[in-house]
Order: sequence, then C-alpha cells, then structure tokens
Amino acid sequence: MAAFGAIDMALWDIKAKLAGMPLYQLFGGKSREGALLYAHATGADIEDLIDSVAYYKEQGYKAVRVQCGIPNMPVAGYGVSESKGDVKNFITNFSGSVPKEEIWDTELYMRYIPTVLEKLRDQFGFDLKILHDVHHRLLPREAAELAKELEQFKLFWLEDPTPAEDQDALRLLRQHSTIPIAIGEVFNSVWECNKLIQDRLIDFIRVSVTYAGGITPVKRLVDFAAMHDVRTGFHGAPSHSPLSMAAQAHLNVWAPNFGIQEYLVLGTPECDALFPSDHEMRDGMFYVSDEPGLGVDFDEDEAKKYDYVQGFHPVTRLQDGTLWNY
Ligand SMILES: [Mg+2]
Repeated sequence: MAAFGAIDMALWDIKAKLAGMPLYQLFGGKSREGALLYAHATGADIEDLIDSVAYYKEQGYKAVRVQCGIPNMPVAGYGVSESKGDVKNFITNFSGSVPKEEIWDTELYMRYIPTVLEKLRDQFGFDLKILHDVHHRLLPREAAELAKELEQFKLFWLEDPTPAEDQDALRLLRQHSTIPIAIGEVFNSVWECNKLIQDRLIDFIRVSVTYAGGITPVKRLVDFAAMHDVRTGFHGAPSHSPLSMAAQAHLNVWAPNFGIQEYLVLGTPECDALFPSDHEMRDGMFYVSDEPGLGVDFDEDEAKKYDYVQGFHPVTRLQDGTLWNY
C-alpha cells in the first residue's frame, strides 16, 4: 500500500502543479492557517522526562507525547531513550541483521504510569496538551482500568491501548471510560478503520497517507470520520518522508475535522538537501507553503550518496521470554 500511496501522491502533485496551485486548494481550500503538531518527549526516568517536556515547550510546542522509563523494567521500553540524560532522542537504532528486544511488564507499567502523569500535571499544569502511547500492550480489561485511572489527568489522547486489529476490545474500554482514544498507525487500508469510526470506538484516526494507500483513500476517510465526530491525528514516525508529511500537511490544513499531527524533527542538513521545501515549522505548528503541488522536491543525485542500511523493528518479550505485542 505504501507503493500505491507513493504513486497516488505523485499524481496529486502533478495535477496541482498543472493547476498552478498548492495541493490544499484542490481539496477546496484551507480551514486553518497552520496545523497543530505534537513532539515526542522522552525520559529514561521521570526527571529526564520533565526536562524533555520543558525542552519541547521552550521550542514552542503546545502538545507532547510522553513516554517514560519504568523502574525495574530491565530494557528501555517503547519510545523511551536508552540512556540517562538523553532527553531528545528516543529512537532506537534499528540497524542490524536481527531485531533488538524490549522487555515488557504490564504490572510494573500500570502501577507507575499514573504517577508520571500526576508529576507532569503538577509541573506543567493543564494547558499543555499531553498524549501517551501504550503501543498495543494491554488486554482489554487492563486498558479499561488504566483509562479510568488516567481520566483525571485530561489527556489529549490515549494511543493504541490494545492491539489495533482487535477492534471489539475497544467496546469494553468505552463502557468504562470517556478517555479520548487514538488508533490506526498500523492500518494498511481505510477498510480497517470504518468500523472503528462508524461505531464511534475511537476519537482520532491515525492512519497515514503512506501506509493507507495515498491521499485519495485517506481524503475519503477524513470525510467519513467527520460525519462521525472522529478527528484526524495522522501517523508521523520517521518512516514517513518529507514528501508524505507534506501530503498530510495539505490534508491537515484542509480537513474540517483536523485534530493534531505527529511530528518528528527531521530537519537535518542531509534531509533538507534530499527534500528541499519552503514548508515551515514554528511555534509547534506546521505552515504549508503556497508552492504549487506538494511543495517538496526530491534530489535524486543527492540520494545516490547514501547506501541502503538494513534494519528491523524491535520485538517485545515478557520478563519470562514470552513474545508480546510490539
Ligand atoms: Mg504510536
């Protein structure tokens, strides 16, 4: 579907260039000036996480996803920096010939994470938008228990509380909690989203134009979601190039039911040389340039400088070695 998505994005880019318009005009125009972003705050422990949130706040972000190391969990968990003091880099080095392993312990996690959110609210108050990602690790009853407990901290969303494929799991959670739920980054088709939206089992849909097959199907999905009061919160992990992030940015400024956009700072000199553009990120918002098309180029000669590097997503195991949901 990523291949379909790439062709679809290219065709929209060509069409908008022929029209001499930025892509959002082909959707009907802008609903807003810029799109709200969230950054990834991370900490090997709570002190580091507080430093990380403070760093992103200083950069102007109004929303942060927070992931924290759990005491007595032997290996850094999902979205958590691997070493103390490293408050900006949570991304595991995926390169190698075999996947890395993470250890997961539901009991330790569920006992500790409410205390993390309590400390963050004490420190930063309630104006900061806070998101948290469970990364599909809980059983439905556990997710319902956690959601109830976290309600008092007024999260912007709780992400992937249960494995996304088990869509009925969310019914149990919904019976017990009003916490906003975001799901969808692992979906490869809009058809995996329609039941969640139609039955109002989620509040934010997190597909991306890359993995869900392009702008055409995702635009339809956005309209369908709007009819059911579900907002967007597109996936924006580093596996999304500046081209697909631009495609999403055009959807974000257009979509009446836009929610938020996940954003990882890719602005390295190497990345900027590969994908030149005039799009602008400032004060935690993404502003789309008025260049015709997607507004991003791709320098193929520059790309020839880099070799392919093999890598894998990590796998997750319980303390006794049992394979678990990543
Ligand atoms: Mg996620």
